[in-house]
Amino acid sequence: RRKKEIVITGATGSVGSACLSVIRENPDIFRLRAVSGHHNLDLLESICREFKPDAVSVAEGTGGVFARRFNAENYHPLIFEGTDGLKKIASEYGDTVGRRSGGNAGKTVALANKESLVLAGKLIMETARRTGARILPMDSEHNAVYQALGSNRTEDIDHIILTSSGGPFLHKPQAEFSGITPQQAMKHPNWSMGKKISIDSATMMNKSLEVIEAAHLFSMPPEKIRVVIHPEVIIHSAVAMKDGSVLAQMGTSDMRIPAAYCLGGEERILSGVSPVNFWEMKHLTFLAPDILKFPTLRYAYDILKLPDSAAAVFNGANEELVSRFLAGSIPFTAIFDTLGALHRILTGPEQNNHALLFNINSVEDAVYANTLGVSFAAAL
Ligand code: NDP
Ligand code: MG
Repeated sequence: RRKKEIVITGATGSVGSACLSVIRENPDIFRLRAVSGHHNLDLLESICREFKPDAVSVAEGTGGVFARRFNAENYHPLIFEGTDGLKKIASEYGDTVGRRSGGNAGKTVALANKESLVLAGKLIMETARRTGARILPMDSEHNAVYQALGSNRTEDIDHIILTSSGGPFLHKPQAEFSGITPQQAMKHPNWSMGKKISIDSATMMNKSLEVIEAAHLFSMPPEKIRVVIHPEVIIHSAVAMKDGSVLAQMGTSDMRIPAAYCLGGEERILSGVSPVNFWEMKHLTFLAPDILKFPTLRYAYDILKLPDSAAAVFNGANEELVSRFLAGSIPFTAIFDTLGALHRILTGPEQNNHALLFNINSVEDAVYANTLGVSFAAAL
């Protein structure tokens, strides 16, 4: 049969590497047509040598340098750069497009990147409906919901239960938060992930963003989305149906599983991961989230009641705070303090927030709202 043609944006990242493993596992099913990387040109080069994609997109200004790496070969990928390069590979190559894409050519998009849905969820979902594009959620919780939902209709859902590991500081007293270093915050107990999402998991902002992501993906009102702490991270999320049945998806914490589900396009293919062994699990535990210690989690519910831009402003502020914390210029607690201040302004009297709250009708609106959040965080 004809091989499925795949484009992976962010192929040099953690999710990208999970997708590449799945392709490696199923050489008869997939052909990697195009990839993108940003700064990690060594890894991108080795990906190109292994999979021989036809096209590659790299950071603005690095295409020439990258092309020279293949001077002495008879394999020469077409090389594109920057945002235009990403658009090019996303729209012109492949049946399935990876995350970070704006690809709307009626394609199937396996989307791990939650920030894009937080920035412009309505716009993305409307565009998908209009163009016939399919969005398959690769974020493990949303992938679990999607799998559990199966052929059931969203009207039959009573509520969605998003599970969370609780992050590295689940049991750390709040009084000790001020001394937390980026190295400590990056050590996630269950998942190995990129830097930004690891910090988001430590602040629980990740789960907050995921509540917003779920609201858009499954057209759910916020009151139908619940969060439960499940430190073993075996159940990746669940759907409670109106008849009282609860359907959950289980597996080890390995992004190759959701990646395989998305790349397979609902056809089961090999991921290289074995199913969980029930005898080894011993017990699964569940706790209510501690909203006082992690107020970040609550913010999603308030934000979803505000005009669209609130989520994008919040996301921009968080991105800026995470990068400052990673650079060592602000303490861990400053992330909570600044997001708390922004939450108070967004939910406060109209004269304080009217410039921050508006409807998002274009990608430019979403980017602008995000920039407002970045500036807010940078100013404090
Ligand atoms: P990584 O930091 O590991 O990878 C990021 C990727 O994006 C790299 O390929 C990087 O290139 C590229 N990149 C970074 N900045 C830019 C830019 N400005 N322009 C173009 N490309 C860029 O992140 P993850 O793989 O962990 O996460 C990616 C997304 O998936 C995030 O949105 C995250 O929230 C989401 N996600 C991740 C999960 C995980 O388990 N890791 C789980 C669920 C969701 P290079 O390295 O070459 O510079
Ligand atoms: Mg997740």
